[in-house]
Amino acid sequence: EGLNTAIIGRPNVGKSSLLNQLLKEEKAIVTEVAGTTRDVVEEYVNVRGVPLKLIDTAGIRETEDTVEKIGVEKSRKALSEADLVLLVLNQSEPLTKEDKQLLEMTKETKRIILLNKTDLPPRLDLKELSDFLYEDPKFEVSVTNNEGLEQLEEAISELF
Ligand code: GDP
Ligand code: MG
Repeated sequence: EGLNTAIIGRPNVGKSSLLNQLLKEEKAIVTEVAGTTRDVVEEYVNVRGVPLKLIDTAGIRETEDTVEKIGVEKSRKALSEADLVLLVLNQSEPLTKEDKQLLEMTKETKRIILLNKTDLPPRLDLKELSDFLYEDPKFEVSVTNNEGLEQLEEAISELF
């Protein structure tokens, strides 16, 4: 068991990479549970003493009405059951409509905002983003370069 932690974000922002990186770093996988549906990946990891069940919502479909499709049962379920949301944004691209919808959808849940791909030039307007944020912790990370993840882990351990 672990705190339900849903990794949310539009396609290609780095959700699966984040899952892999957190697992690699901690080397504390307890078990791996295949989702009841193929495209939801669940992995257990211990982050500085906090047991997490990471849920990679890979199945969110990339269509014009994606966020309505997020109503796709499993993703909505993952979100509704989430103790924590890791909302991943790609800071090398401007905020999209879908990003904004995901920001809206997750606002009632405890969440951490991740601005990924900081190894690439910044193109996300932080002021525009701030309109969607409250007191949410926010971190700049480069998942593939393993940068910023220490701070993320620190924040997770402080939240619980
Ligand atoms: P997902 O669709 O959100 O699960 O995204 P993936 O984890 O599959 O990553 C999508 C692409 O972004 C892959 O080619 C990754 O290698 C790349 N990617 C992920 N994180 C970073 C990063 O920090 N910097 C760069 N430059 N690319 C990244
Ligand atoms: Mg993925």
